[in-house]
Amino acid sequence: MEKFFRTYDELRIDWQRYDRVDCSACNNVCCKSEGYVILFPYEEEYIKLKTEKTLKKTSHRRIGGERIKVFEDCGFLQPDGRCRIHPYRMVECRLYPFQFTSKGNTFYDPYCPAAEKLSTDRKYIQNLRRRWMKLCKVLPPNFLRAWNLSLRDLSGIKKLP
Ligand code: SF4
Ligand code: SF4
Repeated sequence: MEKFFRTYDELRIDWQRYDRVDCSACNNVCCKSEGYVILFPYEEEYIKLKTEKTLKKTSHRRIGGERIKVFEDCGFLQPDGRCRIHPYRMVECRLYPFQFTSKGNTFYDPYCPAAEKLSTDRKYIQNLRRRWMKLCKVLPPNFLRAWNLSLRDLSGIKKLP
């Protein structure tokens, strides 16, 4: 568990430097959309430690034969449109509107109004991808396999060259 906590600490601080999705023109559609967020190993415990908040609605999904923990109906969106746990929000929230496979293939979700513009920012994406690949080195292979498969199920995402 400590290995993951250390990695999340390092990556979260690092990610914040490049965290510049402009959400001002959007009514938080991603946080309000139905569905679930995949929880990375010990991420629930990490968020609890850092924010003292509990992820209330968790469950498990079968993805590619793996039992993966997920978080549904996130209640951390505040009335002012900010995320209550923003510095420690889940990896999947942090990557959005981008998604990466374990090999570094990159996708973006055109549903996000900021995605088109951001997807032309090669430096931003390269930095994000580098940090993602670093995280992949500590993730169990079965988790990564399920993660890759979960991306196939997302409708509408577009691959970046
Ligand atoms: S959909 Fe995109 S622009 Fe809207 S809140 Fe989410 S990340 Fe921000
Ligand atoms: S944790 Fe924050 S960023 Fe993620 S879905 Fe909830 S409110 Fe949105």
